[in-house]
Amino acid sequence: MRPQTPHRSPRQAFGGTIFEGFEPSLSRCLLKREGKVQLPLMDANKLFEIALGLGSGWKVENSEIEMDASTLKLWLRFQPGSLFSCPTCGEYCPVHDTVEKRWRHMDFWQHRTELFARVPRVKCDEHGVLQTSVPWARPGSGFTLMMEAMILLLAQQMSVTAIARRLNETDMRLWRVLDYYVNQAHAAKDWSQVKRIMIDETSTKKGHHYATNFMDADTKELLFTVPGKDKKTLASFAKEMLLHGSHPGQITEIIMDMSVSFIAGAKEQFPLARIIFDHFHIMQLAGKALDAVRKELVRSGVDMKGSIWAIRGNEWTRNDAQLKDRRKFILNYPVLGRAVSLRESLQDVLWEGGEGDLKWWCGWADRCRLESFRKLSRTLKAHWDGVLAFMETRMTNAAMEAVNGILQLAKRTARGFRNFKYFRIVAYLKAGGLDFNQASI
Ligand SMILES: [Zn+2]
Repeated sequence: MRPQTPHRSPRQAFGGTIFEGFEPSLSRCLLKREGKVQLPLMDANKLFEIALGLGSGWKVENSEIEMDASTLKLWLRFQPGSLFSCPTCGEYCPVHDTVEKRWRHMDFWQHRTELFARVPRVKCDEHGVLQTSVPWARPGSGFTLMMEAMILLLAQQMSVTAIARRLNETDMRLWRVLDYYVNQAHAAKDWSQVKRIMIDETSTKKGHHYATNFMDADTKELLFTVPGKDKKTLASFAKEMLLHGSHPGQITEIIMDMSVSFIAGAKEQFPLARIIFDHFHIMQLAGKALDAVRKELVRSGVDMKGSIWAIRGNEWTRNDAQLKDRRKFILNYPVLGRAVSLRESLQDVLWEGGEGDLKWWCGWADRCRLESFRKLSRTLKAHWDGVLAFMETRMTNAAMEAVNGILQLAKRTARGFRNFKYFRIVAYLKAGGLDFNQASI
């Protein structure tokens, strides 16, 4: 007769069969053998306890797999007679009663996993009856901490819609998790070293919905985003600075476009800061001036087919066919040639010239008999210091444009953000340089 084996095989134990009469302590469970940690035979509940990292005080009381729904359900319970600390004063108190709660955990293999527990309410002599927290989840959350960490990780790579599909969850539940962690991590950001900022507006959804973004010009991190594009947005940022260990007086340079509202806001809120007008926006104005000359020719009956793309931008950004057209249009229409030269010269002056060169350019534009360039000259003269500041510092909003691109892409994949709150969450998540370990979460 074969001797009876006292243990079942690991295959049976892992298969979910509860092994009776053997409940080893955690320390005895982990046997080091040949450098590997091996789990001896134990019941499935114990295994789940270790996997969940429950710690002392809580046990997995029951576990079952609903094959139809492919769901693993784990019931947790605390040791009878345990004391729990009062959430207000921390004093250990007896359990008053319990409230049943449910959490979604990370899937165990292919099984959606849910935890259930009756969570105690304590009766503190001083603070009355209060709900305690559990070590595996944040108060009020329907997800375990590990599940929330995974959602946060996924959200840095995928859209919320895609995560919702993958986890079979609703968008709303995921947004709530992201809202909490992103706000916590953002609130913990230290701005004490921020000296130079970039400001730019971006659209948040279809129609006239804008946000103004504030970026640290040195770290290239998005500091703050606020609805609107008026001067109040700068007041909001100045106020927010006080919550991050910083103050408006420490800002030495602000890079922005020539928006009247931004200029007014900067002068009011950051009187010590030097305003720098971004090269990209100045050249955008020059591009518009050039296009006005082209449109004038079209209006006078000239066939300018193909001219939009041929004339626009710099020579080195055009393809061969466009370049050929560009030269043809310039040769045939000297007025267009003059406009193209004015635009190209301004670019050279901005990047390589000094104040004298800028004065020379404005003189040329004033005399060129092209109204759109005369207007541009007036604009530059009205914003002289800020344009010169660019020529001296060569600081641009290019990093801001890159962030804008990321946000516009995120907006498209999310089919527009339903409200500003969601836009802000994604903006901080993608561009805020948030440290979820440092934040007190
Ligand atoms: Zn208390």
